[in-house]
Amino acid sequence: MKPAAFAYHRPASLEEALSLLAVHGAEARVLSGGQSLVPLMNMRILSPAVLIDINRCRELAYIRREGGMIACGALARQGEAEASGLVAATLPLLASALPHVGVRASRNFGTLCGSLAHADPLAELPSVAAALEARFVIASARGRREVGAEAFFVSALTNCIEPDEMLAEVRFPVAAAGARTAFLEVANRGHGFAVAGVAATLEVDAAGRCAGVRLAAMGAGDTTVRLAAAEALIEDEGLSAAAIAAAGEAARAAVEPTADVHASAEYRAGLIGVLVGRALRAMAAAGPR
Ligand SMILES: Cc1cc2nc3c(=O)[nH]c(=O)nc-3n(C[C@H](O)[C@H](O)[C@H](O)COP(=O)(O)OP(=O)(O)OC[C@H]3O[C@@H](n4cnc5c(N)ncnc54)[C@H](O)[C@@H]3O)c2cc1C
Repeated sequence: MKPAAFAYHRPASLEEALSLLAVHGAEARVLSGGQSLVPLMNMRILSPAVLIDINRCRELAYIRREGGMIACGALARQGEAEASGLVAATLPLLASALPHVGVRASRNFGTLCGSLAHADPLAELPSVAAALEARFVIASARGRREVGAEAFFVSALTNCIEPDEMLAEVRFPVAAAGARTAFLEVANRGHGFAVAGVAATLEVDAAGRCAGVRLAAMGAGDTTVRLAAAEALIEDEGLSAAAIAAAGEAARAAVEPTADVHASAEYRAGLIGVLVGRALRAMAAAGPR
């Protein structure tokens, strides 16, 4: 199928893109990598009257360090992040998750911000952003605002961006020196969308105490879900076998997945509990990076 007719704008700067959004926002969609939007338009699941293609806004094509944060502009491609030495050195969780996001061809076009804005509950990057406590920089002609993952992801395929706004940048805190991370998912097909997955990070101090435990699950419900009870258990009790088993059980109990042709809700919840256990055991076994 082909998409319904639409007006096409190709701004050359962020300012121009925001002016277009101020006028057309309610009936417009931002086009970045097009890897989700274009198929949805071709299937006529989405029929925006106006497309605002930001691919000529070169000022948005960056991945750079700004103090303790890695700032990724709206045109930072998933493939560029995957190949980036800066990302490998400072964001090991993001680096280990990226090869799971689609296929190389989709990562060459798809952007980090596009995947986050798409807000698919089975996508990898929202859980990575939640576990890393990323900041989302949302811009409009009215100004800029910054929110965290808990505010950004509203429900399945729905974010908190207003019609005249766009996601201009995502900012990830640089991993602490002793941080340990794990990204695990189970998919029915290699390179297929996951059934469920877990993004995890923690720090272990010199005395062996765990701090900064952050666990986020995908396939866990309408949006990525932070597993607060499991996090608290590990911070209180450490990485003993009993604590890890209890954290897995707490994670299973905390999620409310949906069923589809790939898995029942019960299977997904059980899988998330198992993956939390595996991720914690992997981080317990790993030394600081
Ligand atoms: C073969 C294939 C396999 C895939 N497998 C996976 C997978 O396993 N896991 C996974 O997570 N994804 C997968 N995807 C989707 C892929 O990761 C997309 O790149 C991603 O979901 C969207 O990024 P994009 O830059 O292409 O955004 P687009 O498709 O351009 O846009 C997606 C949505 O976000 C909005 N949007 C885009 N950028 C912005 C912005 N800066 N501000 C506000 N709104 C914006 C658009 O209006 C649209 O609604 C797959 C895609 C393909 C083609």
